[in-house]
Amino acid sequence: MPTSALNRTSERAAELRANVSEIRDRIKRAYGSVPRSTSYSREPTLVAVSKYKPASDIVGCYQDGQRDYGENYVHELVDKATQLPQDIRWHFIGTLQSNKAKMLASTFQLHRLPCPDRSKTASSLNKYLPETRTDPLNVFIQVNTSSEDNKSGLAPSLFPPSELLDLANHVVTACPRLKLLGLMTIGRENIDFERLVRMRDELEEKLREGEGGKWGDRDGRLVLSMGMSADFEAAIRMGSGMVRVGSSVFGERRKKGE
Ligand SMILES: *Cc1c(COP(=O)(O)O)cnc(C)c1O
Repeated sequence: MPTSALNRTSERAAELRANVSEIRDRIKRAYGSVPRSTSYSREPTLVAVSKYKPASDIVGCYQDGQRDYGENYVHELVDKATQLPQDIRWHFIGTLQSNKAKMLASTFQLHRLPCPDRSKTASSLNKYLPETRTDPLNVFIQVNTSSEDNKSGLAPSLFPPSELLDLANHVVTACPRLKLLGLMTIGRENIDFERLVRMRDELEEKLREGEGGKWGDRDGRLVLSMGMSADFEAAIRMGSGMVRVGSSVFGERRKKGE
């Protein structure tokens, strides 16, 4: 590589490292301000959303210890996963069509994904996970807390008939190779985060009354994945256990189709 290109690469790596460490500090501070009685016992996980960004950017953050990355498109995730270190935890955060479930399920080191809004997709993930995989695949059910047409996810209701409750029960009782780890939302304002907190509390209660099966983190809590670049500190103060931050780490993205 010519020297100028090398310089550009190392400048970019330094910029990414600075961004990641700034976001980590902000996560720590926001988490520090939450009363212990309402928070998770561990600091929220930072998922760096790397969609549209080159694998070399991920290498820059990886060198700083960042291991969790989020991708929205199956092909892009699979492509990067094959080029990059195997201890990366990949989080698929897009909308999964059931015809891509097989391709995604067979990706080594897939760490978690938002559960498909349908039982059929959950079942095909369960079916296509490689035999060699011993730990269950973590799934999050996406909830459309702001009830906006352009956002995917299930309606925020547990009153029967509730798709959310049915899907949670389906994953827990009929998909032994999946683990329902939590709920995810995009949302628009703080009230949407509050709504997800309420859904989580009610769903935990219903799952406890049920027959068991695998769900929740090590403390037996469903984890909330909420908060992006613009609102992750507010989300943490409301009880988020996982934030998905893209542009504040990697810079602005081109729009789809550009
Ligand atoms: C792109 C994306 C993010 C990251 O958004 P930023 O505003 O860039 O932080 C988080 N969650 C989902 C589901 C996304 O699609």
